[in-house]
Amino acid sequence: MANSQRQKRSVDAVSPPKPRKSVASSKKNEKPSPVIAQYLELKAINPGYLMMIQLGDFYELFFEDAILASEKLGLTLTKRGTYQGQDIPMAGVPIRTINDYLQKAIKAGFNVAIIDQLEDPAEAKKRGHKAVVKRDVTRLVTPGTLTEDTLLEAGENNYLSALFQNPSEPSQPPLFSLASLDISTGEFLVSEIKADDLNGEIARLNPSELLLSDTLLTTPEITPYLAGYNGTQTPVPHATFSSLSGEEALKASLKVKDLEGFGTYSRGELAAIGAVLKYVELTQTGHHPLIRPPARSEQTNHMAIDAATRSNLELIKSSHNIKKGSLFAALDRTVTGSGARALAAQISAPLYNVDAINNRLNVIEFFLNNSTLRDNMRTLIRRTPDMARALSRLSLNRGGPKDLGAIKNGLIAADDLLKNIETINQDHLPKLIKTIHQHLLFANSKLRDELVRALKDELPLQTRDGDFINPSYNDDLDEQRLLRDESRSILASLQTAYREQTDIKSLKIRHNNQFGYFVEVTQLNADQLLNGPLSEVFRHRQTLANNVRFTTEELIEIESKITQAADRVLDIEKHLFTALKDLTLASSEQISQLSTSLAQLDVFLALALLAEEENYTRPIIDESKTFQITNGRHPVVEQALRRAKSGPFIENNCNLAKPSPKNTAHIWLLTGPNMAGKSTFLRQNALIAIMAQMGCYVPATKAHIGLIDRLFSRVGASDDLARGRSTFMVEMVETAAILNQASDRSLVILDEIGRGTATFDGLSIAWATIEYLHNKVKTRALFATHYHELTCLREKHPNITNATIEVKEWNDDIVFLHQVVMGAADRSYGIQVAKLAGLPTPVIARAQDVLKCLESEAQESGAINQLNDLPLFSLDAPSEPQKTTETPTENPNANQVYDELKALNPDDLTPRKALDLIYKLKATINT
Ligand code: ATP
Repeated sequence: MANSQRQKRSVDAVSPPKPRKSVASSKKNEKPSPVIAQYLELKAINPGYLMMIQLGDFYELFFEDAILASEKLGLTLTKRGTYQGQDIPMAGVPIRTINDYLQKAIKAGFNVAIIDQLEDPAEAKKRGHKAVVKRDVTRLVTPGTLTEDTLLEAGENNYLSALFQNPSEPSQPPLFSLASLDISTGEFLVSEIKADDLNGEIARLNPSELLLSDTLLTTPEITPYLAGYNGTQTPVPHATFSSLSGEEALKASLKVKDLEGFGTYSRGELAAIGAVLKYVELTQTGHHPLIRPPARSEQTNHMAIDAATRSNLELIKSSHNIKKGSLFAALDRTVTGSGARALAAQISAPLYNVDAINNRLNVIEFFLNNSTLRDNMRTLIRRTPDMARALSRLSLNRGGPKDLGAIKNGLIAADDLLKNIETINQDHLPKLIKTIHQHLLFANSKLRDELVRALKDELPLQTRDGDFINPSYNDDLDEQRLLRDESRSILASLQTAYREQTDIKSLKIRHNNQFGYFVEVTQLNADQLLNGPLSEVFRHRQTLANNVRFTTEELIEIESKITQAADRVLDIEKHLFTALKDLTLASSEQISQLSTSLAQLDVFLALALLAEEENYTRPIIDESKTFQITNGRHPVVEQALRRAKSGPFIENNCNLAKPSPKNTAHIWLLTGPNMAGKSTFLRQNALIAIMAQMGCYVPATKAHIGLIDRLFSRVGASDDLARGRSTFMVEMVETAAILNQASDRSLVILDEIGRGTATFDGLSIAWATIEYLHNKVKTRALFATHYHELTCLREKHPNITNATIEVKEWNDDIVFLHQVVMGAADRSYGIQVAKLAGLPTPVIARAQDVLKCLESEAQESGAINQLNDLPLFSLDAPSEPQKTTETPTENPNANQVYDELKALNPDDLTPRKALDLIYKLKATINT
């Protein structure tokens, strides 16, 4: 669309400019045109941004920006005039389609500066014939500061975060402050984070843009903490992180004199908050978005999940970086964008508090028991628009009538929901629903009545399109509309009169932007108007291939009346819009709370429906250290198998209950054939833990989980070549993190650790890792491995249980039963699986021969039996290096060397003499 319009306006397309050739000096000094001068001036102030400058109905790009936009955004490259003897490359997009191109630009990694006309060209002309229309940057568009629905994912938050390293003594471990604002909803979060938890927290919030001080960004030590972060890192001056100005900026944004009412923020947190607010001020060029008081997210309130575990368990996105295939996709039955965002946040931050979890589970149970109420409420909630995002656009002066309509419709739907909740006796409502009920009461406000009275049902996006205020809302508006519409009917009568007067049946009165209203007749009929007596009345304006156009005195007069009335109508509507917007923003806090409550309600209703449809069960959560799952299923694989009609998912138990009072650890060591379902089993238990602690029913017939403080899940080999780490290095770095961070309240899932290196190295590392988890960390863990030798660990470690997955052999093939049973596997059936995968028959036959040979060799050497005879894993520091038997004083020549050294003055020695002396002394000791 942009291209086709552009082509109409285009001059000759130009190829990107070649390196500058020397030009005549007169050309070199060529002055830029006023618009280009304006562009160059603004570009100098905003380097690094793709500049889109409004020229009438288009946003244009010039020079390098135009070339980049043509290459990356698919715009047609044209030229407009010259500068210093060179053609000026130009590309542009119609104003109406700007959002499509902003989206492309942001995706392609550009930041964009929008330069708007600040006055009507007619106003500029009043200042003189050559006066240039005033233009300035009205917005800097960056990934973290988007507000338009078309630029955002409905179900995802879009955070702008700022990371600050709190000042600390070198001996202390680093502590960070992270502030994150979703400018599109006003949600603001802040926390202090230990270094170990930083990449997990960044992965949880997944900010689109991360502000870092230029000094921090150049510190090599920061690199590991940002591992895995794929968003945009934006350096800002170090001075931006000032706690004092942060505090002032926050007070100003919240319009308060004191922050005490919102809790206490540390100096580090205020510095990070300050950086976010400063950046917002810069990019929004003075418009103040609506922000909520920053909510402190205490790390101790949530189950800690690091970045690797999040991606390994595919919580929000699958390994292909899409929603499909993730836990989020499997659980998501929400019907609103804000509900989907709330669900994603809930999955990303499971709770670490028994009461808080049970409060959520109570609501799900309530909606399971009241399914008619639930279904009615879901139908209503489906109608609620994204009020939070609409409110944010209104606060940034970027909203239109549709956004006011969103608030209106949200309030209407909330009122209906309120009525539904009120059908239940208050005493029977779960605690969290009572809170939601309180917030929904605002739906009955005067604001809703006013919006209902004022706004039509069908609303345009922009105020400039007009016609969004109801008749009878404003007398002045009604009067002007009547005048405007009357003139229109006068126009229709005039057309009839002209047809009679000229006897031309096809005569039409038409309108375009160039001429305004005009009379149009076909070429055949034109002659009598051009040359007959009527030529006095009909003055010629334009001749086209098939038509001829005229104007008349009467038409000019009516046109002026129509335009005036239409302008006046639009003015009044714009004025009413501003009044309604101000009225809405005056209640922004209540609307925010209401919209958060609607999102939360959507999540609860959705999770209750999910529990019913998927036959999930309420987990028992307590302070014990048990982990007992009966007939557990993998929520994602189960749905995938059903969709593919690939047979039922086989349920499995997992019992990591504490068997011995002395040692809280309980580790299941899972061996079994390839493809048997080991990884599925491991992950399903991790996911059940997450679901239970986020306050969701779980895929099992019974689940009893003692609170888990940290969850770790690792697969043996996944490389990170981009960060210069080999497969095995990644595996070991991740294993190290687990061994250092896990506690006796954690759940550790290790899938084939050690497989990335030579067999015996891998086996030894796996062996030592399990022993460490069992003896030192004393944690709950599931460990899948193909090292069958590890199963003998059970003999010396009471809290290790061997489990395996059953398969049946059939001739030389295997049948997977996916059933977890106690015991150890005897082999991996790797060759059978390879056969199933279609490896050529000669390769399979040869592999079988080699395997036989290797197995008999291993049996003969008895290496593994020796492993089992090793002393128990020792947790003491490694022993000191062995001392040599001879001490210096025992050497008979020691005294002679001592005397010589004592006597000499080093300053008297030349380098040559010193070297000779060393040789001599050494020879003395050795004799
Ligand atoms: P490998 O050792 O080769 O990595 P694995 O033992 O980890 O294999 P998985 O990847 O967990 O095996 O499972 C292989 C396939 O088996 C899965 O894609 C899944 O479709 C199916 N599967 C696993 N567990 C079950 C189950 N409990 N019920 C039904 N199908 C299952």
